[in-house]
Amino acid sequence: QFSNSLAAADIATGLHPYTNARLHETKGPLIMERGEGIYVYDISGKQYIESFAGLWSVAIGFSEPRLVEAATKQMQKLPFYHTFNHISHEPNIRLAEKLVEISPEQFTRVSFTNSGSEANDTVIKMVWYVNNARGKPEKKKFLARTKGYHGVTMASGSLTGLLNNHRDFDLPIIPVIHLTTPHLRTSGHDGETEAEFTARLLKEIEDTILAEGPETIAAFIGEPLMAAAGVLVPPAGYWQGVEALCRKYDIFLIADEVVNGFGRLGTMFGSTYFRFKPDIMVTSKQLTSSYMPLAAILFTEEIYDILADNTAKIGTWGHGYTTTGHPVATAVALENLKIIEERDLVGNAARVGKVFMENLQQLSSHCLVGDVRGVGLMAAVEMVPDKSSRKGFSQFGKAGGKAFASALQNNLIVRVLGDQLIFCPPLIITEEQALEVVARARTTLEEVADFVSC
Ligand code: PLP
Repeated sequence: QFSNSLAAADIATGLHPYTNARLHETKGPLIMERGEGIYVYDISGKQYIESFAGLWSVAIGFSEPRLVEAATKQMQKLPFYHTFNHISHEPNIRLAEKLVEISPEQFTRVSFTNSGSEANDTVIKMVWYVNNARGKPEKKKFLARTKGYHGVTMASGSLTGLLNNHRDFDLPIIPVIHLTTPHLRTSGHDGETEAEFTARLLKEIEDTILAEGPETIAAFIGEPLMAAAGVLVPPAGYWQGVEALCRKYDIFLIADEVVNGFGRLGTMFGSTYFRFKPDIMVTSKQLTSSYMPLAAILFTEEIYDILADNTAKIGTWGHGYTTTGHPVATAVALENLKIIEERDLVGNAARVGKVFMENLQQLSSHCLVGDVRGVGLMAAVEMVPDKSSRKGFSQFGKAGGKAFASALQNNLIVRVLGDQLIFCPPLIITEEQALEVVARARTTLEEVADFVSC
């Protein structure tokens, strides 16, 4: 059926993440071959604007020679070494130093993993280890949010608040309580104001802490701006309230900045944008622009001290991977962060993000569009069958499925979540290119409108 032998081989041998395997057998893969700036090209040579930066990932674009050079140099010098048992190497050290330099002042320590999932998994162990060490072994439970995304390992997948993730894999395996998604339009009651909504969310958190017993709650984890849930902007005062509750009940506050981190919101970090002070921050994706797999956990000196004192007593911090702080990945990350700074890509995200959002907002008048929202270079356009009720399609994903296919026809790659179009373009995008994304999105909406007849 597939004339292309690569496609046939993929169908014969592959199992793809987040893919309907049987459908894949008939539909076949879209095979990408190369990238350049904000564009990617498939094997037929067709060019697409990648308006989702891969997977919220490629900050500096798809063809940065300086990262190639950084990787090549490191490959030639020392392609691999580990960081166990008092061993280190320069890229690992320099990157940790750089992360401490550019992150909020409370972060003085860094630990590396290979992916965001592993990083959140590690954070769970870190929090438990530290609580055991400070004589609070009952403090084990995590507070997270419904629809929050924190990864797919057994423990990080437990923190993830997506029902199918739990149903399909018998999760959670750690004690976790999922609280209301902090998004007024989808979780607010009829007529509820933003301030009332914030107050209700904070009351829910405090009531939960008291009902469970503060002595059992270890940490609160959340994405400053929820990404995979559909670019959900939290209500004003939410993060300040969460922070105050964490302080009041001696609960660690963890910001999952795997998507928000390194400029996505037009500020270096999501916690900077929403003005709160986490104890632990998890980063990945834009850390290397995803040219190499890498994640970094940043944490406070206070946490480090408890952990370090304990290792002095019991032996070691017995956790880490063969490739923890991999020299090529850390060298690439360091160069990537330098480029983000030198080219002021954080400022670019704020400036172009504003124009992008203003133009996306103009799609609001379209018969299919129920909501347009976002911050910086992260945005969602939600399609609904009825603009007045703004309730979803009875056949969830009907418009979304068509939109993805139409966008591809229009040389645009956009992420589709249900019936939402999600945009998260590379931070290097220019104003002109951002307007082209909006133009292609508009054409796509027209085609979907014909399909669902609105
Ligand atoms: N945390 C957030 C907020 C994410 O969006 C993701 C992935 O999309 C992860 C964690 C997991 O990262 P990874 O896919 O690298 O394991």
